[in-house]
Amino acid sequence: MAEVELRNLRKDWDTATAVDDVSIKIENGEFLAILGPSGCGKSTTLFMLAGVYLPTSGDIMFDGARVNDVEARLRNVGIVFQSYALYPNMSVLQNILFPTRFQKTDDAQARAHEMAELVQITDLLGRRPSELSGGQQQRVALARALIKRPNLLLLDEPLSNLDATLRLSMRAEIRRITRELGVTTILVTHDQLEATTMADRVMCMNKGRIEQVGSAADLYLRPDTLFVAGFIGSPPINLIPPDRDVLSLPDRCHTLGLRPEALRVSEVGMPATVLSVEPMGREAMMTVDTPLGDLRFIEATAQPKYRPRDLLRLTFDNADTILFDAKGQRIPEAHATLKETAYA
Ligand code: ADP
Ligand code: MG
Repeated sequence: MAEVELRNLRKDWDTATAVDDVSIKIENGEFLAILGPSGCGKSTTLFMLAGVYLPTSGDIMFDGARVNDVEARLRNVGIVFQSYALYPNMSVLQNILFPTRFQKTDDAQARAHEMAELVQITDLLGRRPSELSGGQQQRVALARALIKRPNLLLLDEPLSNLDATLRLSMRAEIRRITRELGVTTILVTHDQLEATTMADRVMCMNKGRIEQVGSAADLYLRPDTLFVAGFIGSPPINLIPPDRDVLSLPDRCHTLGLRPEALRVSEVGMPATVLSVEPMGREAMMTVDTPLGDLRFIEATAQPKYRPRDLLRLTFDNADTILFDAKGQRIPEAHATLKETAYA
């Protein structure tokens, strides 16, 4: 187990800067998710931690000691990839034992069985990877990553190849296993649900830079930037240029954010014409034409009451509005109010 710190970490490739001035401290035993769109620098960050890529500048610290110049195999980091990367010609047991091949002791055997039990694959130890399901292969990869009691466990999109139901149960499984071992873990994912359900804290990245670090609630309720607001939440937040004829808000507000579920039908409210209705199971998403512009609006019902061209009235709590300045930074403690003219 280790406390991990990145100090002004940077990685330049010939073509682009993949990681740009990333600084974060990860507590011993913490589970951090690095979340962001494809190409934002998540895997590059992970590979620098593992010692596969050298940073262009900045420092990587394990328990206060700089490890930039420490070889990958001496950092004792366990990694699990999206592709599992199991050795096809080896049995499950041989795969799990592989990282300990230079120290073939009874201890390694015992530890392999212990890890197999932890990830619940003891009955599969004699099989080849090709004889396993995706979920089982993932468990083998996890056992292999954990056999050397790593300082740090790195997971790069580990659930992307699994079907939806299996992904759900593996999320909980991985959380249980890392908690049981108390191992410091960094999960890389582009899936906001994966990040927010599994991690203690989420580090949201965009174009190589940190946009925000916080809990799931921080990112959802108090996004620091326009990017985070737009990236977190499904269906996505409404982001609109505010019309000052119908809204009162601070002068420097450039974009108004309003979550689809913050809107509600009310006798007193702004007129809204239904443009489309999309049943999503437990709820329905509508697009409505309002004095604020076209807005996404969630109706909490499996049986939608409204149809295109219906006219309703909508309102929202001022406290649910999120305001951003021209640079895309949230304006703290500021909210928007509908003016009387909006009700006409
Ligand atoms: P993510 O994991 O968030 O999808 P990556 O860290 O893989 O993103 O990539 C970040 C950026 O760095 C991308 O623009 C990618 O094309 C570039 N990149 C990644 N690996 C290499 C490499 N080995 N050589 C050159 N460019 C790379
Ligand atoms: Mg990646």
